Amino acid sequence: MEALDINAAPADLLGMDRGELESMAEAMGEPAYRGRQVYQWIYQRGLTDFSQMLNLPKSMRERLAAQYRIGRPAIDANPVSVDGTRKWLLGFGDHTQAEMVLIPERTRGTLCISSQVGCTLTCTFCHTGTQRLVRNLTAGEIVGQFALARDALGLWPASRATDKLTNVVMMGMGEPLYNFDNVAKALRIVMDGDGLSMSRRGVTLSTSGVVPGIRRCGEELGVMLAISLHAVRDELRDELVPINRKWPIAVLLDACREYRAASNARRITFEYVMLKDVNDSPADARELIRLIEGIPSKINLIPFNPWPGVAFECSSDRTIERFVGILRDRGAVATIRSPRGRDIFAACGQLKSDSVHKRARVAAE
Ligand code: SAH
Ligand code: SF4
Repeated sequence: MEALDINAAPADLLGMDRGELESMAEAMGEPAYRGRQVYQWIYQRGLTDFSQMLNLPKSMRERLAAQYRIGRPAIDANPVSVDGTRKWLLGFGDHTQAEMVLIPERTRGTLCISSQVGCTLTCTFCHTGTQRLVRNLTAGEIVGQFALARDALGLWPASRATDKLTNVVMMGMGEPLYNFDNVAKALRIVMDGDGLSMSRRGVTLSTSGVVPGIRRCGEELGVMLAISLHAVRDELRDELVPINRKWPIAVLLDACREYRAASNARRITFEYVMLKDVNDSPADARELIRLIEGIPSKINLIPFNPWPGVAFECSSDRTIERFVGILRDRGAVATIRSPRGRDIFAACGQLKSDSVHKRARVAAE
């Protein structure tokens, strides 16, 4: 078996926040502000080479290089879709993998980031849900995805205005609110003006409905919130999104009402996957409107993206149009998400890495 000697590898600074880098500088006998300078070099300028940190004393640069590194996830594959969507299969030090997707559009670019390797939840229509969770991603691995995308697009310094990377969505693999501490730490760096400089409005976190996490997210982060609703009756949602058995629809929607107040966020997005003959009737559309009444929101219908072995089918275009028509007739803001990157398995719910199998193979070697 291939042994990874973690003790021998220099510690990675990627993912450390300002306070931790200040403490690191002080532990080296340097003033705390040197740590803040390192922070800016890492997150604002994207440096991975200490020798280029020219405002630091040379001796400090040398000691940093001897003790630390600034890493990036490895790129195990990087396919590009016919529609321009790019997917990265990322490799982490312990042979685990997760996926990241970039969706370029004419005037904006959306980066879809993973929070876990796999997912502990088992939403029946989601490919990631069939993968046993290997582990949470660390803050460094989450920030690392963002940094890697900036590397690939040549977008440093991070404060430079660009329409190539305007939105980050925590909609990749995993349930971000079940990895709250690492996600929060990473997003604070992503939204910090001295860090990766994304605006709060440009960051959306999608959850299947972890109610205590929604509260914390509102109080501590105030990012845009997306809720994977997908059904308007508890009986059906229990099946599609099993976490509903713990936090049913009414409890979830109460948390959404509080979220707005806590975080002063704009609309909440309700995601609704269109599953043929399962949740796509006119009655479902009308009930959806009734449920979310009074919550400033928008509804994003997601045509179901198939994956090998799944029993669900996507609703027909006509059914989706009829559904969206009912919502709009009743005054809702409703959009249909156009599937992107289906040919490279990069569309919503298609992400899955073979970390489990890989680990089994490595263990057998
Ligand atoms: N775990 C989080 C975020 C990742 S999933 C969550 O569930 O919200 C991002 C979105 O894609 C969610 O709304 C999810 O329900 C949806 N999704 C999952 N599988 C899908 C599929 N096969 N087709 C379309 N959307 C899917
Ligand atoms: Fe996990 Fe989200 Fe997929 Fe459900 S939809 S299994 S919460 S990644």
